Amino acid sequence: MSRILIIGAGGVGSVVAHKCAQAMRREGVFSHIVLASRTLSKCDAVAASISARIGARIATAQVDADNPAQLRALLKETKPDVLCNVALPYQDLAIMDACLECGVHYVDTANYEPRDTARFEYKWQWAYADRFREANLTALLGSGFDPGVTNVFAAWVMKHELDEVRVLDIVDCNAGDHGLPFATNFSPEINIREVTAKGRYWERGEWIETDPLSWSMDFPFPEGIGTKRCYLLYHEELESLVRHLKGIVRARFWMTFSESYLTHLKVLGNVGMTRIDPVRFQGCDIVPVQFLAALLPDPASLGPRTRGKTCIGNRMQGLRGGKEKTLYIYNVCDHEACYAEVGSQAISYTTGVPAMVGTKLVAQGVWRTPGVWNMEQFDPDPFLQDLATYGLPWQCQELPTPTAN
Ligand code: NDP
Repeated sequence: MSRILIIGAGGVGSVVAHKCAQAMRREGVFSHIVLASRTLSKCDAVAASISARIGARIATAQVDADNPAQLRALLKETKPDVLCNVALPYQDLAIMDACLECGVHYVDTANYEPRDTARFEYKWQWAYADRFREANLTALLGSGFDPGVTNVFAAWVMKHELDEVRVLDIVDCNAGDHGLPFATNFSPEINIREVTAKGRYWERGEWIETDPLSWSMDFPFPEGIGTKRCYLLYHEELESLVRHLKGIVRARFWMTFSESYLTHLKVLGNVGMTRIDPVRFQGCDIVPVQFLAALLPDPASLGPRTRGKTCIGNRMQGLRGGKEKTLYIYNVCDHEACYAEVGSQAISYTTGVPAMVGTKLVAQGVWRTPGVWNMEQFDPDPFLQDLATYGLPWQCQELPTPTAN
């Protein structure tokens, strides 16, 4: 039984805390759960929901994870075995440093980003590999849905269905509707930075850059969702997957957006509101995207008003026994069902469940090897079994192989 510390009480942190409490009740995996964030009242509200819904008690604490002394004090006081970091990507390195200093295993859902460049790269976190190995600690990177489950889906297909993969397309569809003209389903600042950055994909050993949202394709989603337009983005899991998937020639990431979202984003971009550099205004420096985030709805507030489904998965084309084979492995998740269960919409839910599962596997020693690891580097089977048990069942089907790409 392990002691767990969750940092970040936003949309995702709330789901992680509910799911850890479920795992504590069902399997006795965790003996003690602490939820800490900058705003204590948010942690207390999550603790009250867990008590009412699951009948379990979790502890709460206040911490500013940008402050190393506060972080160290929290880790020394709460003595966790594993820390699940679901604050913002800016805090990753400070939290990894604190874990090293206090002897705590580390799990997160998003790679480190410096505040002044919207560029996802694992290099800063991979550079911690020797220190984690020497400290006999495990750091598991990107245990959300994408990155996260998409990496594990890829590992499962490579373990059970393909000898080599040629083409990987990760396709993320949010077919949900919150009824608002413009809102983001997770941290607005992180979401807007991601979508307005240049696209990038892997082709025959090199990265090819595309203008933001300039490439699209129509994809037929299953379970009644239907065909939707998806746009090519760069997404962080591509960086590790192209290193680890045998035979990979092309790897791309696609996401759906509504017309209304794209129109708002275009106008906001045109007037400079998505800029991430500081602008002098009435004697203060303000970062436009941070100011915009302060005006937009809190993602957690979208839960009660979002209807419809998400569908995220991988289409993978490769070889099995010398023959071409194409597979589609995916999860479909319903916004209203998530809200009824834990009081959150499906974007937070589909991130929070795998964050709990990754934390659980590290805590149980099932996924525990000293060093810094991406999700596809561990055995996918125990992860995907727990994923289905804790609310995200998945399917894999064979598709006809396209004749040309
Ligand atoms: P939110 O903005 O809803 O929540 C982030 C939380 O982190 C807030 O509660 C905030 O504090 C807390 N926080 C921010 N800075 C600090 C700090 N310095 N110290 C302590 N706490 C801090 O975001 P989400 O919950 O939607 O997303 C959480 C993480 O999950 C992000 O890193 C995001 O990139 C990642 N994510 C990953 C996905 C995946 O599939 N891999 C998908 C979606 C999100 P407070 O409110 O207490 O002031």
